[in-house]
Amino acid sequence: MKRIVVLGSTGSIGRQTLEVVLANPDKLKIVGLVAHKNDALLEQQIALCHPEVAVLTEGAAGKSLQKRYTGGTKILCGEEGLMEAATWPGADTVVGAMVGYAGLRPTLAAIAAGKNIALANKETLVAAGQIVMDAVAYYNVSLTPVDSEHSAIFQALRGGAKGEVKNLIITASGGPFRGKTRAELEQVTLEQCLKHPNWSMGPKVTIDSSTLANKGLEVMEAHWLFDMPYDKIKVLVHPESIVHSLVEFVDGSVLAQLGNPDMRLPIQYALSWPERFDYAFETLDLVQRHQLTFEAPDLESFPALQLARECGMAGGILPCVFNAANEEAVNLFIQGRISYLDIYRITEKMVGKFGNSECTLENIEAADGATRLVVKREWA
Ligand code: NDP
Repeated sequence: MKRIVVLGSTGSIGRQTLEVVLANPDKLKIVGLVAHKNDALLEQQIALCHPEVAVLTEGAAGKSLQKRYTGGTKILCGEEGLMEAATWPGADTVVGAMVGYAGLRPTLAAIAAGKNIALANKETLVAAGQIVMDAVAYYNVSLTPVDSEHSAIFQALRGGAKGEVKNLIITASGGPFRGKTRAELEQVTLEQCLKHPNWSMGPKVTIDSSTLANKGLEVMEAHWLFDMPYDKIKVLVHPESIVHSLVEFVDGSVLAQLGNPDMRLPIQYALSWPERFDYAFETLDLVQRHQLTFEAPDLESFPALQLARECGMAGGILPCVFNAANEEAVNLFIQGRISYLDIYRITEKMVGKFGNSECTLENIEAADGATRLVVKREWA
């Protein structure tokens, strides 16, 4: 029985994690839930899963839940509550499903407390990949990917030794604006961005998917997860989102993992690994999904992918700066303060603003803070 804490339980990945856990009651158990401020949904989840601990990191929402709740779950709030849940003694596994850089500190704390990590929160690896992977090795815990592309690669890598890998090939749906020119993207609205053709996800990752910044973050994520140089990590547009990624081996064999565009499968694999559990949800029907197409990414219309790759290759604090600028710019776009193409303009400007330095926790925190401050000061 794996005993699980979900950081970000009320989000898209968090909710689907609960579905997977509840479908496997003899193998998986929820012992902790963490959300930011969605107290109504967290309360429903507490009633459904009976965790030992539940946390709202937003103070007022947490206090209000603490006041009215009368059941057996310990209710905590704020940053302290988050860290207590991430290191909860009764848990062996932590699902990182918070959005953004905010997931870094609790993930590091969970690793240091000896928890195995199932990671959806890619921003954590982008901002501090070296630090996270060093901690995983030092504390001898496992880190299994939840992102569907990385889950696919993780599975395909079982087909050969590391030295036999020629390329990792990450697929991308291309998002809602595939085929559009840069000029045509000038007038894009938030509503259009939030309509992803294949996946139903939280707003930040949906917008990142439309700009291909998400694919750039995933290239960096793959670099850290699989210890692969950037020149061996390719991106391939595959609009149907059935082939979740591929591994090309030195003999020319290409192994892929296929499945419906449904995050519950990679979530379950991240939790069942190294085993496979039976799957309670709809599986792939290739007769129905018979058309699979592929094309090269359009780096002119979607330059964020290339910028992310360059930041990844430069290393140091630059991936963290890219991530922080992109996160803040996406927030400003959601608030209606900047245009769609400003997201990239701001990110590009911020990446060029600071000199690079070594990837230490201190430098990362300073770079993240400074980047956000400048973006807010100049564009909010
Ligand atoms: P959502 O926006 O749907 O959910 C985010 C979750 O994090 C919510 O539970 C939210 O709580 C919580 N949260 C936000 N800020 C904080 C904070 N400061 N402290 C504690 N909890 C916080 O995001 P997604 O589920 O879409 O994405 C989560 C992560 O998974 C992202 O890194 C994303 O890139 C990655 N991912 C997502 C995929 C998807 O299909 N959605 C696919 C692959 C990766 P509240 O609801 O209370 O605000």
